[in-house]
This record gives sequence, structure tokens and C-alpha cells, in this order.
Amino acid sequence: MTARDPAEDFSGRAVAVAGLGVSGVSAARVLAGLGAEVTVVDGGDAEAQRARAGELEAEGIAVRLGDGDTLPPGTDLVVTSPGWKPDSPLFAAAAAADVPVWGDVELAWRLRRGPGRHGAPWLAVTGTNGKTTTVRMLAAVLAAAGLRTAAVGNIGTPLLDVVLSDEPYDVLAVELSSYQLHWAPGVRAHSAAVLNLAPDHLDWHGSMEAYAADKGRIYEGNEVACVYNAADPATEDLVRKADVVEGCRAVGFTLGSPRPSEFGVVDGILVDRAFVADRQRNAQELAEVSDVTPAAPHNIANALAAAALARAWGVPPGAVRDGLRSFRPEAHRIEHVAEVGGVSYVDDSKATNTHAAQASLASYDSIVWIAGGLAKGATFDDLVAGAADRLRAAVLIGADRALVADALARHAPDVPVVDLERTDTGAMAAAVEEAARLARPGDTVLMAPACASMDMFTNYNRRGEAFAEAVRALPSGGTADG
Ligand code: ADP
Repeated sequence: MTARDPAEDFSGRAVAVAGLGVSGVSAARVLAGLGAEVTVVDGGDAEAQRARAGELEAEGIAVRLGDGDTLPPGTDLVVTSPGWKPDSPLFAAAAAADVPVWGDVELAWRLRRGPGRHGAPWLAVTGTNGKTTTVRMLAAVLAAAGLRTAAVGNIGTPLLDVVLSDEPYDVLAVELSSYQLHWAPGVRAHSAAVLNLAPDHLDWHGSMEAYAADKGRIYEGNEVACVYNAADPATEDLVRKADVVEGCRAVGFTLGSPRPSEFGVVDGILVDRAFVADRQRNAQELAEVSDVTPAAPHNIANALAAAALARAWGVPPGAVRDGLRSFRPEAHRIEHVAEVGGVSYVDDSKATNTHAAQASLASYDSIVWIAGGLAKGATFDDLVAGAADRLRAAVLIGADRALVADALARHAPDVPVVDLERTDTGAMAAAVEEAARLARPGDTVLMAPACASMDMFTNYNRRGEAFAEAVRALPSGGTADG
């Protein structure tokens, strides 16, 4: 780290911004507005990029296209877009020159402390799955307590905009991905939660250890509570490794009865046995399981984590209940689309990894499973072995479908599998038609692909919409055989 704190003064600093995407362009403009000499670098050199570069250059921001690997001479700070892999040559060059690399989150964190800014504290959430849901639940609870707050991170308003706005927030509910945490060495949340840890994005991080270590950064410097999942010892390990403020507590959440310093469930009631007087003897009732939508086990876990962070901030129990009651899940997360011919069609397009797919496969008894896409280095044996007795059939789509097919052949050899070779835009409709043909009344056709969508779709939203459109196009009256 350089001697001068860039949060104090950016004027005249030579900053290289890696990536000419949405995040890079927004960072470049903010930095230039603070007086930095910005050069945006990007390996691409396509028509659209040249057009965008032209706009920035007109504003006095330098852009270098066609070379994303070498450090512009004189650079004293690199600000990277979240997608850039840590082994990119640009970062090796930065390390060799002792130049710090920050992500968009680090930049936002530094700027929040800048002159004239209010700097609302952060309650932060990470984990392989459930981040968005938990952060939105948390924001709902904080709002129910009358606090000025926003759900930020990968959702809603970009973090940089929130931090630089004039809005006098009391506290922010912040979602942080493992990529963002990797490039955010200075972030210090008031309290933070790691919801769960399962293999994901291993191609980006290089190994499970590196992925876990990046997630664990969220606990660094916490002041009041490090919230972990008692059912996932890896999350508790990360708490133990973290360097926190003296007096900060480890607080677990469990779907069972809570021990002292835990949040848990007793007779259908969510209870707090951490932020109460005499926690050896007492527990505070917060809400009923039925106040949480959907009341599926993984989602109760999300609600407990949100409640723990809110209580760490000092939110009263009644506001936890009111906030959870007001929460509604976002689209493409175990979303019921339609019932056709006695068969339910469920869109869990957001199940972009095996851990998420496992949660939704566990929620139904007899399933025609639509799966496949980009595996991101994952393996499917545990997922398929755990769900085999609930699978009526499987329909596989996308680039890495052979990996899912192999796992099915090994662990569910009797389950009929349709392997769809096509990856054009009509492929999802074909998959839904195949699934409808294989389903029997009472079954659930579950699109929980356990893979990312980008091989066939712009994103998981588009994949979910394609599924819903295809379901609505099915002849009503239902299944071919049913
Ligand atoms: P993220 O922001 O971490 O991707 P979301 O809240 O958007 O998380 O949910 C992503 C997917 O994970 C959804 O398919 C959802 O059904 C599933 N999911 C949500 N919470 C959990 C959890 N606690 N454990 C396992 N799966 C979960």
C-alpha cells in the first residue's frame, strides 16, 4: 500500500481501470470526477467497445483497447472489474510494481470515508447461495425498524452510487460475492455472515481453499458479530481465522434448537439466544416459521442469518417479525410457474450451482429435472446421488450436460435421460416439451440446472423466462401420456 491514503485525495493519481464494462465505466467516471488521471484498459477492440471508448475519451478519460495485460506506465493504483480473473497478467504486473489492486467494492469502501461523506456502516452477507435473499430480508427488517437503509451489492443500486449519494443512510445491507471480496482487502463490516460454503466458481479462484479464504475476508475487522452457519463447520472455521475487533462475538444459526450465542428454531418459532440478557437461560422469540416465504428449510436459514445481523445492529424483535413478513422472494428462485395436466412447473433458474440445486431438489418428491449449462469446474456426483430416488427423469441441456449425464449414469442408472444436443434459442422449449412428455400427474418439472446459463442465455433471468414461456406454450390439458 502506498503512503498516501487515496480516500483522502485522488487528484493527479494515475489509476488504471481494468475492463470497459458497466462497472469499469462507472469507476472510471467517478475517479476522473475526483481528479484522477484515468486509463481504462481492455483486451477487446470490437465496434461497441470503440464506441464506448470514444464517449469516455470525449470526457477526458484515456482508453487503451486491445491490450488488457500490461500496466500503463506510471500507474499507482489498479481498479478492476469483478469479472477479471486473479491470474490475469495485468495483476501480476501490478504486483511486480507494488501497485495495489482494488475492486469496485474496495473503491466504494474507501470513498465512503472521504471528506464530506457520512459513511453508513455495513452489515455484510456472503455465501455460496442465499446472498440476495438474505440481504433483501435484512433490508426489509432494518426498514421495519424505521432505519434508513438499502440492499446493495449485486442487487439494486450499485454500491458506488449509494456510497456517493446524499441520502443519509443509517446502515446498509451489503451483498458481497467471492470475486468482490477477493479484491476488497480494506473492507471492515460492522457485522457479517457467511451463509454456507460449497464448491462454486473454482475456475476463477483456482481452488476450494482460495475460494473459502476470499469468502472469509468478510469477517475481517467485524465489530459486533461474525454470523456463521452451525450446520456448515467451514463457515465457523472462517470466523476462527478472522482478525476481529476485541469483543466481537461468534454467533451461529441453526435449524435446530439454539445453544447459547445461537439463533435457531424451537417449536416453529425463530428464536434469538445470542442478543438477550442471560443467554444461558433465556431466548427471545422473533417470528414464526410461517412468517417466512417460502418456509423451505434453506430459506429459514437465510431468515435466521438476516435476523442475527439485524439483532447485532440492535433491531427490536417486533421489527424482525414485521420485516420477515413483508419479504417476498425474487423471480427465478423456486418460483411456481404453472400447473398443467396435474404437473407443477417450477423455475429455479437461479440454481446456478450444485449446492443451490440440492436445496430445491430436496423440496419435491417426484421430479422431472431439467439441468445442465456451464459447470464452472463443478462435479455432479453428490448432487445426483442425493436426489436419485426422487427423480422420475432428467432432460439435459447446455455445454456441460455430459458431466451431468455421467453422474446420472453412475448414481441413477434407471432414471430415463433425454440428452438435448441443440443449444439454439428454441432448446428450452424442446426441453420443456420432453419434460412434459415424461412427467406424470403429481410430478414436478423442476428447472434447477446446477449450472450457469451463459452458454445459451444472456443470464439466469433469460433462462427462467424462456422456461416460463415454454411452459405457457404447452397445450393445456397436459402431459402427452397423462
Ligand atoms: P445468491 O445471491 O447467493 O445467488 P439467492 O438468494 O439469489 O442467492 O439464491 C440462489 C439460489 O440458491 C436459489 O436457487 C435458491 O433457491 C437457492 N438458495 C437460497 N438460499 C439458499 C441456502 N441458504 N442454501 C442453499 N440454497 C439456497
